[in-house]
Amino acid sequence: MIEGKHAVVTGGGTGIGLAIARALAAQGAAVTITGRRAEVLEAAAGGGLHAQVMDVTDEASVRDGIAAAVAARGPVQICIPNAGVAEGRALHKTDTEFWRWVMTTNLDGAFWTIRESLSSMREAGWGRVVAISSIAGLRGLKGAPAYTASKHGMIGLIRSLSEDYIGQPLTFNAICPGYTDTEIVSRNIASISQRAKITEENALDMMLQANRHRRLIAPEEVAAAVLWLCGPGSDSVNGQAIEIAGGQM
Ligand code: NDP
Repeated sequence: MIEGKHAVVTGGGTGIGLAIARALAAQGAAVTITGRRAEVLEAAAGGGLHAQVMDVTDEASVRDGIAAAVAARGPVQICIPNAGVAEGRALHKTDTEFWRWVMTTNLDGAFWTIRESLSSMREAGWGRVVAISSIAGLRGLKGAPAYTASKHGMIGLIRSLSEDYIGQPLTFNAICPGYTDTEIVSRNIASISQRAKITEENALDMMLQANRHRRLIAPEEVAAAVLWLCGPGSDSVNGQAIEIAGGQM
């Protein structure tokens, strides 16, 4: 079911996106991986992964990037809005520029990516959209109001789309990972330890405490859920926000 399909994974050159791209390619998909850094994408490309530079904060870049991917590999049938930034800042320290940066990257980027993929997906007559939100899309993450709002917004978008296209061979779901072992977590460990004036070891421990299994999620665990949502047997899963977070919230 995944074999021969064209998938677009934003932020597909690193971390969770790269794990998803590799998992889809291993099932025979042609996968367009996007991001701003050409060198990162080129290093990841090959074995079914194709690099496309695209900045999700720039509507024209998303439109042109998806159009180029469709021209090269046909209609998008699997769309994974994954590109995102995760930085915490208390609201009283949040200026409009920071707020817009987080919202534009995480929410506008998902909106533009899905919209631009959807027309070719509808032509193809089959489609799967799996947005990478966060557990911060389902509950308030302390010290990160902009991030939390952007990730809640992604889930609202997915739920609304699942209603709009109900009855068609398209599904829209979100995955909500807890702390996952990627560069985002490494960067956050450094910034939390600076802001809270604690050691990096204690900052990591804080993240582990947020997971009842007391470990970081592996990016491949998120990828496995994407494979399930894009493969056979999940046609009736639609409009869901699925936690991969080591227990109940
Ligand atoms: P990474 O930092 O490895 O991935 C982020 C990706 O997004 C990079 O490939 C980056 O590529 C891309 N990106 C960022 N800004 C832009 C932009 N303006 N235009 C295009 N691409 C952009 O971290 P993760 O893999 O952890 O993060 C992936 C997603 O998972 C994010 O949405 C994050 O919020 C979410 N998530 C992560 C969790 C974690 O603990 N790691 C937990 C829950 C959710 P480039 O810089 O080259 O543009």
